[in-house]
Amino acid sequence: MNAPVTRRNAVLGIAVAATSLAAPSILRAQSAGRVVVVGGGFGGAACARALARADAKLQVTLIEPNQTYISCPFSNEVIAGLREIEAQQFGYDKLAAGGIGIVTQAATGIDTQTRRVTTGDGTTFGYDRLVLSPGIDFHFEALPGYDAASETMPHAWKAGAQTLLLRRQLEAMADGGTIAIAIPANPSRCPPAPYERASLIAHYLKSRKPRSKVLILDAKDAFSQQRLFEKAWKELYGDMIERVALSQGGRVTSVDPTTRTIVTEFGNYTPDVANVIPPQRAGRIAAIAGAADATGWCPIDPVTFESKLVPNVHVVGDACLGGGIPKSASAASAQGRACAGAIVNLLAGRAPDAPRLTGVCYNVVAPGYGFSLSGNYEPRGDIFAEVEGGATSPVDAPRELRAREAAEAERWFETITADTFG
Ligand code: FAD
Repeated sequence: MNAPVTRRNAVLGIAVAATSLAAPSILRAQSAGRVVVVGGGFGGAACARALARADAKLQVTLIEPNQTYISCPFSNEVIAGLREIEAQQFGYDKLAAGGIGIVTQAATGIDTQTRRVTTGDGTTFGYDRLVLSPGIDFHFEALPGYDAASETMPHAWKAGAQTLLLRRQLEAMADGGTIAIAIPANPSRCPPAPYERASLIAHYLKSRKPRSKVLILDAKDAFSQQRLFEKAWKELYGDMIERVALSQGGRVTSVDPTTRTIVTEFGNYTPDVANVIPPQRAGRIAAIAGAADATGWCPIDPVTFESKLVPNVHVVGDACLGGGIPKSASAASAQGRACAGAIVNLLAGRAPDAPRLTGVCYNVVAPGYGFSLSGNYEPRGDIFAEVEGGATSPVDAPRELRAREAAEAERWFETITADTFG
């Protein structure tokens, strides 16, 4: 039986009935320039948009299971009650209006031999080039007990229901309670964001539940912008935030959701609220495509973002092994756009240009108090390396600069979401 063909797919002529896939070369010859993008987050949506803008003749299809994307950047503000989740939500209407075929399904299978993607409803999509930007999934095997724990010990590392659950738990906690934040080792999504979260939770507690504590259980000894964070914590929150680093036994080795116990190398903790962020790997579809290696992440050629493991498949965003580039929305969006440029060149038989990517990361530790880190990255061998031109906020900056950087963070969010989602 043929797979269903939706109206939009039929219009675009890109859905391929399952029984007709025996002759992929003929199909490709009939419709060259088909690019399928899996994942409509910062990397995938930016890539799809840049592809459609670069070449109106390309057939660009974006496969994403959710009608609305919920942004992780600024979701720590939602947890701390400073912002509502609605401000985090973005639809795909503008992308559709720009000629991109939006398929509201999850990709469930990828055949890299015949170059086709299957979605949850059984439809298949042929491609000349495939872009994967599925973000992260959790590496449950690396944290025994967690696979059944997200309802009691929310990670809130994918924005949405988890963000709101953690906020509700925080709101329900009595004054004098402890919230523990368990932070995994790198590589992980947005390395500074757990510390920003600790800061904003402390901000919430300071005014509402001042006898409470934030306990950070950390699988790292050092972290990004550490001096800036620690100075801000002292200045704003006194000793409300306590951090147990890796060498002090901070690495979480297992959890027990029935007793809300967090087990570390040096002892057990039973906090009132447990925000456990598990170790991560590339979104599952990357492994299904054969693009993820033993690390769980996807090695790529940094000039084209093409997978080192499967041809004609490109990986951008958190899922790829980007070398020196932190896993951030800023990087994902820049990678998505650079990857689009490379694909347009490859399809036209031209050599792709080596990209120079720039990224900026803002941390807001209280309303009106922010700092930033920016970097430039270029391909060096198999990875991206940081090159000159990056900057970090000075540790001893006046409060006016902190206020200015907090305002810039808001503008950055408005700009990147407008650039990505329209
Ligand atoms: P995502 O944005 O997660 O998008 C992946 C998309 O793929 C999702 O929409 C998902 O539904 C879809 N998908 C997954 N599997 C499939 C499938 N099988 N089929 C189809 N679709 C699929 N970054 C910053 O730059 N600045 C910040 O201030 C910042 N703050 C953050 C705060 C927090 C609390 C967190 C957790 C992260 C933060 N980040 C920040 C990081 C940022 O959110 C990620 O780096 C960014 O979202 C990565 O983009 P992506 O496209 O790789 O993945």
